[in-house]
Amino acid sequence: QAKRDGRAHYQYFSPEMNVEMLERMHLEQRLRRAVKQSEFYLEYQPVVDMRSGAVISVEALVRWKDPEFGTISPHAFIPIAEEAGLIEPLGEWILHQALSDLAEWHSQGLMLKMAINVSGRQCLNSRDISFYNVLKDALSKHGIAAKDLHIEITESMLIEDKPRCLQTLEDIKQLGIDIYLDDFGTGYSALSYLTQCPISVIKIDKSFIDNVLSNPSDAKLIKAIVMMAQSLEMPLVAEGIETVEQWQFLHSLGCDYAQGYLMSKPLSKTQLVAFLRHAKPFHFLNVGTELNAV
Ligand code: C2E
Ligand code: MG
Ligand code: MG
Ligand code: MG
Repeated sequence: QAKRDGRAHYQYFSPEMNVEMLERMHLEQRLRRAVKQSEFYLEYQPVVDMRSGAVISVEALVRWKDPEFGTISPHAFIPIAEEAGLIEPLGEWILHQALSDLAEWHSQGLMLKMAINVSGRQCLNSRDISFYNVLKDALSKHGIAAKDLHIEITESMLIEDKPRCLQTLEDIKQLGIDIYLDDFGTGYSALSYLTQCPISVIKIDKSFIDNVLSNPSDAKLIKAIVMMAQSLEMPLVAEGIETVEQWQFLHSLGCDYAQGYLMSKPLSKTQLVAFLRHAKPFHFLNVGTELNAV
């Protein structure tokens, strides 16, 4: 019987796909165990105000190092966590870890804000406690003001269950938590989302920044995005800034915030504290403004 099922299986899936499926199932098992045992850690990437050059916030980025698979990118395991129903416990662990670190920094006089990535399933929480309440409880538990936390969502999460998602986001926004639209420009949604959803800030995806100096159409696209954001009075974050030229281009257009390896890679908690204690403001990058003014 089992053999027949096995053969039937092979009729629908190529051997390669079976290997993939097995690996995936295996990965899912490991992930399940990792969630139970909290085998994750967070890194924090600074976000810089392009005008003052100061670090104003950090984005929490989850890391998973499995003893067998090694380091696995969140791009790979977050979707699996979502499908396996693990994103809610994982998301809560991330939230509590990040807010507890933030509370510690605040007590040391490092007045930062924290950005947390939130996936669709997490927002549409299917359990007894709503995502809104998860956030509210976490803030009060760690003594963090709502204005010091913002969440990053992507366009794709608005497609799944739009009315319910919108209501949750409205409630979160009412609480005082700003909502950032991540990876802007990579989704398929209509631009009407920008005004229909309670979005405060837009993050331009790294893929547009990458070729901004070599590809004139990417440069034109970025200019158009900046102009659109400005007319909607929405601040912009450019992600994935790796070179001084990219910084200067975005700065000259009036982009508000920047994140990228040029300023800093994602850092461990201890590395971040050392970084913040020694970092000089980044406005030396604004050649053509500050330097000429001297
Ligand atoms: P994202 O939210 O768009 O995060 C930005 C990603 O770009 C991060 O990758 C960051 O390390 C990378 N990055 C930033 N600046 C540069 C740069 O200058 N050069 C290059 N090459 N890369 C840069 P990471 O940490 O691998 O995260 C990938 C994605 O996984 C995130 O994209 C986000 O969608 C998701 N993710 C990460 N952490 C979490 C989390 O805690 N919860 C959820 N739901 N998703 C997460
Ligand atoms: Mg993000
Ligand atoms: Mg992003
Ligand atoms: Mg991205």
